[in-house]
Amino acid sequence: MFITTNLSAEVIARSPGRVNLIGDHTDYTGGMVLPMAIDRYTTITANPIAAAIQLTSADQPDKLNCKLPVVEPAATVPAWGRYVTGVAHLLQVRRGFSGSVSTTLPLGGGLSSSAALELATALMLLAVNDLPSLTTLELAQLCRRAEFVATDVPCGIMDQLTCASGVSGSALLIDCHSLQVSPIEIPHDVHVYVQFVAHRKLASSAYSDRVAQCAQAEQQIGPLRLAEVGSVRNIDDEVLQRRALHVVSENDRVRRATVALALQDMTTFGQLMNESHQSLRDNFEVSTEQMDEAVRHAQQTPGVFGARMTGGGFGGCIVFVADATADIDNLEGAMLVKPVGGAEIN
Ligand code: ADP
Ligand code: MG
Repeated sequence: MFITTNLSAEVIARSPGRVNLIGDHTDYTGGMVLPMAIDRYTTITANPIAAAIQLTSADQPDKLNCKLPVVEPAATVPAWGRYVTGVAHLLQVRRGFSGSVSTTLPLGGGLSSSAALELATALMLLAVNDLPSLTTLELAQLCRRAEFVATDVPCGIMDQLTCASGVSGSALLIDCHSLQVSPIEIPHDVHVYVQFVAHRKLASSAYSDRVAQCAQAEQQIGPLRLAEVGSVRNIDDEVLQRRALHVVSENDRVRRATVALALQDMTTFGQLMNESHQSLRDNFEVSTEQMDEAVRHAQQTPGVFGARMTGGGFGGCIVFVADATADIDNLEGAMLVKPVGGAEIN
């Protein structure tokens, strides 16, 4: 085995997580989302080695130790390593790395620690294999496929594309059909907070159910991203109607929220966040009582413009947007997050 000199240097790859301000369960039907990359990071520090990946995690037990190339990523033990081997499998690389990963994101908290792990892995593997760099969109598409390969969850592109293409100081309006990303500046005096409520439970099977229900609704009325609220009535099943109503109205809320943010009209922006939560709770049924309670509490706090659950649901975090006067001391564990740039290597 030969390890050349340029293979001996330590490499650091890191990716931010993300919080979605508005537009949940819209990405996998090619709809609109408005997330931002946040100043909480997953960092892999490693040395290049041949033919294997050896990785310890500060946040999970058991070391990942797998041979390259990876044949069956979904069978990886420990299970957390699947996100890493999913990326390695798709890249079909033969050079790997030995090192450790740590994160300041909660795991399973709805802030995309999984996408951050995939992106840091992808950047690390490209670097140690001397492969040409990818565009942020190519990186995101690779990592989204890796998540599917690893977990069988048919996730949309939002998480990976946001973590890959974050812009300092801005939220990102993403059209998940055209894949156009447009930064929308967040006013300096507007504060974004996330509050961890509970680890996500049964999230992957319920998520897959919702994806399937949206596909069923589309068989009846065509692409939800193009549908009008009025056409939802033509769906013959009451549950599917509510699912479709959420998606169609949420796409509209994202568009209106983007205009409000650009105009610095935070009252309207907050109102749309509140309406989004109501729709996710009642029509899409992905919230929990604990999340509803946390959202209500935040909404009632003076200085808070609006609050909602964020991410796939069934636990995770809520997000709220406030002015500088908001007293968040009684919102336990609420943390201020700043919009930052995307994943990088050095
Ligand atoms: P989220 O992306 O919202 O945090 P997911 O359920 O999609 O939640 O992904 C969380 C999973 O990703 C964890 O259970 C773990 O398997 C894996 N993971 C993420 N970050 C790390 C890390 N730093 N170390 C080990 N595993 C991680
Ligand atoms: Mg995830």
